[in-house]
Amino acid sequence: MRLLFTYIIMICYVSNCFGQKNTAFVNANILIEGKFVKKDVYAINGMFSFNRPETLDSIIDLKGQYIIPPFADAHTHNLDREWQMSFLPQNYLNEGTFYVLNLTSKLDGVKLLRPVFEKDSTIDVAFSHQGLTSTLGHPFMAYEPFKMGLDVKVWDDKEEEIRKSRLDENNSYIFLDTKRDVEKKLPGFFAENPDVVKVFLIDSEYYTENYHNKKMGDNGLSLPILKETIKRAKAHNLDVFAHIETAYDFLKAIEAGVNYFAHMPGYGWDGDIQSKKRYEISDEVMDLAIKRDVGIIPTLGQAFNYPLKDSIQKEKFIKNFLIRFKNKGGRILIGSDAFNKTLSGEIQHFIDLNIFTPNELLKIFCHDTPKAIFPNRKIGKIEEFYEANFLVLKENPLEDINAIKGITMKVKKGYIMN
Ligand SMILES: [Zn+2]
Repeated sequence: MRLLFTYIIMICYVSNCFGQKNTAFVNANILIEGKFVKKDVYAINGMFSFNRPETLDSIIDLKGQYIIPPFADAHTHNLDREWQMSFLPQNYLNEGTFYVLNLTSKLDGVKLLRPVFEKDSTIDVAFSHQGLTSTLGHPFMAYEPFKMGLDVKVWDDKEEEIRKSRLDENNSYIFLDTKRDVEKKLPGFFAENPDVVKVFLIDSEYYTENYHNKKMGDNGLSLPILKETIKRAKAHNLDVFAHIETAYDFLKAIEAGVNYFAHMPGYGWDGDIQSKKRYEISDEVMDLAIKRDVGIIPTLGQAFNYPLKDSIQKEKFIKNFLIRFKNKGGRILIGSDAFNKTLSGEIQHFIDLNIFTPNELLKIFCHDTPKAIFPNRKIGKIEEFYEANFLVLKENPLEDINAIKGITMKVKKGYIMN
């Protein structure tokens, strides 16, 4: 009986009632153009309005609390595995992250789980599908040995076995070495309708040397194949997100037409001053990045977690890059790239860096990142005819950004989410 009752509620919640109700949220402080404005807001059939509708199903008094748009994570590898479903979607929701982009996902997992997220009542997830790289390039080692069921401890001993194995090929990664590969493999890739395209560049200045060395996972696409891939992505109207390492990768990717960077250049630099030049971005290149309107996901957690020779130099390097980029008007986005974790750790890194104002942080977390993940949706603002998705905070985050951790209510398409 209880099961039947739950089932009826579920049907009502997911299909019938969702998005067909008018709710007033009164006495709210609403974030509009970087300031909190005291006013009432209405959710009408899931969309915002500032005009009171003729009929109201419910009125919720927010008692002067603060309303901001929800957060987004633009770099994860989560939510394409069934075992994560019992906890991760709820964890994202609890911290206020409504939009997630999986940059390199297992196609079999995406096919299974994508329908779960295609509902108003869940967080929204976009998937890049497989990562595009060259033979044995990154992310081969992030997938293949795990698919083989090998513990990290035995990878050295099993090196030759791993090198020959292709259990996860065309599921997690696709190898594109030649134009023939592009012609043969990319039509099938696009036919599965990825939301964005993820490409890998690793020290592309030395592509040929890296391609022929014995090391696995230390190469990406060659520049001609990158260009060919981007041309095809554009023909399908898809944005291209690039994994990069060096300043050379950064420049070449911009020139080739990449839209977003999945990491900041030098995120993996160890802080050794001797090699700093390989990762430093000149003003000229930065100006080009601004002109092309590329977005950068710095992945601060990853950058600080790398084995470091000099952590002070590394922190200086990260701050210098981000301050220059933001002062020139560059688009910075947030993404954690922390497997099996949600966004909160990366949010803390952004706060701790102490170079952004609360307003700048809210713009990154709540506007620019959601818009980059779902460019065709009206999200990221509390504005007339935008999706009625928001977080209610007890305290004012413009006074203390840590107030974003004090969420008292989460609303999606006008409905309160638990
Ligand atoms: Zn990643």
